[in-house]
Amino acid sequence: MTRKPHVIIIGRPNVGKSTLFNRLVGKKLALVDDQPGVTRDRRLGDAVIAGLEFTIVDTAGWEDDDPETLPGRMRRQTEVSLEGADAALFVIDARAGLTPLDEEIARWLRSQTLPIVPVANKAEGKMGEAGVLEAWSLGFGEPVPLSAEHGEGVADLFRALWPIIGDTAEGPEAEADSETVDDQEIDGDEAESVDESDLGPLKLAIVGRPNAGKSTLINRLLGEDRLLTGPEAGITRDSIAVDWHWTDPASGTEREIRLIDTAGMRKKARVTEKLERLSVADARRAVDFAEVVVLLLDATKGLEHQDLKIADMVLQEGRALMVAINKWDIAENASSLFNGIRGALDEGLSQVRGLPLFAVSARTGKGLDTMLTAAFELRASWSKRVPTAALNRWFDDALEANPPPAPKGKRIKLRYITQSSTRPPRFVVFGTRLDMLPKSYERYLVNGIRRELGFDAVPVRVVLKSPK
Ligand code: GDP
Ligand code: GDP
Repeated sequence: MTRKPHVIIIGRPNVGKSTLFNRLVGKKLALVDDQPGVTRDRRLGDAVIAGLEFTIVDTAGWEDDDPETLPGRMRRQTEVSLEGADAALFVIDARAGLTPLDEEIARWLRSQTLPIVPVANKAEGKMGEAGVLEAWSLGFGEPVPLSAEHGEGVADLFRALWPIIGDTAEGPEAEADSETVDDQEIDGDEAESVDESDLGPLKLAIVGRPNAGKSTLINRLLGEDRLLTGPEAGITRDSIAVDWHWTDPASGTEREIRLIDTAGMRKKARVTEKLERLSVADARRAVDFAEVVVLLLDATKGLEHQDLKIADMVLQEGRALMVAINKWDIAENASSLFNGIRGALDEGLSQVRGLPLFAVSARTGKGLDTMLTAAFELRASWSKRVPTAALNRWFDDALEANPPPAPKGKRIKLRYITQSSTRPPRFVVFGTRLDMLPKSYERYLVNGIRRELGFDAVPVRVVLKSPK
């Protein structure tokens, strides 16, 4: 049975959802404006871009004149409207820039499992440029600049949608075969999940080259409405660790963060080191304290060798690492900058894949909550333990899919795997003739652990052991 994929349009009022709907459906089906009630029900339309056929769903009906109640209404609509959708176009108004309501909707969308394509509409001409940049900080990756009214950017929309719905467009409904069921068992293992409250305050360090914006970022995080509850009254910038409470906007819960302030530490240390060596030294001190390290880059400088050195050191030390591109408010060529850094990180850091990468602005505060939410998630995977039974189910499948080689006719036997520690995760593989196991096979196992057991961005150690 084939079914057209459903793509749902989401966004606050007036960003151009109806215009986009009409553009994709290809005829003036719905009224764009006025007459309250006209667009209040969700509308379905047949859309096609360059042969990619899908059903487009307009959610203009979720709107409410009172923005206070909009998120609540949207949440209530979740089951009905997102059910059966294969992707969502999250539309913002590039001319107006991000509004608090956009950010509220973004937070809500992040709690959904649906793939999200951020769309910056009204991007025609110069006036939309800043808004397209801002859309990066929603945390859904590269925004598609679009002008629904003028029909510009539809090819980019195709490129963004194709990887998500290109397969479903023709393929049969996925059946739950035995493999999927196994995966679910692994994922669903209760012992595996980490209880945040057991982990205590998130120990977070921000490192980076001089001028990347570390001090600005720390001030921004600690400033304004954030409540300082430091170890002593009258915390100064010279404190080495600052405890504070961050309210996670996604859940509304307060979470404790202990921020390691390396800039403060630097002032205390006798500064004899050269400036560029300093950032490595800072980072080295920071990893002694931190669980999660944020490497801050400067969007106007890009990724330099020095940054890779710091990143590599953090991973060598087994810490969870994420990268934030700061000064995104003044970034140029955002898309090639972001993708270039993404590629350079994947290439330059063989220990991890898909390191969390964020676009932020310490100056405006954009993207910071997204980054902190991800920091907690990263710590959770860094801290989690996969139960031995689930681990060996995965192991048996991995060996069956790609058996170890038999050099000189003698089969290398891999018998058993166990996770020996967490923070960072370490695994021990038991077997015989392990000294003959090719490095490429070791990499196969490490990659499998990362990809299939949820340790993607975390440095993973694997030790081989032969029983004596
Ligand atoms: P909705 O409330 O999200 O469905 O938004 P509408 O589709 O009703 O559009 C709101 C307003 O934005 C209308 O006045 C549209 O003409 C205008 N609009 C929609 N798309 C674009 C665009 O690409 N560029 C510009 N400049 N205006 C647009
Ligand atoms: P540090 O040496 O890493 O602590 O960097 P600073 O916090 O002292 O920042 C260096 C310079 O970059 C200062 O002039 C900041 O005002 C500027 N800066 C920091 N963050 C941002 C940002 O997000 N956007 C822009 N445009 N400038 C920033």
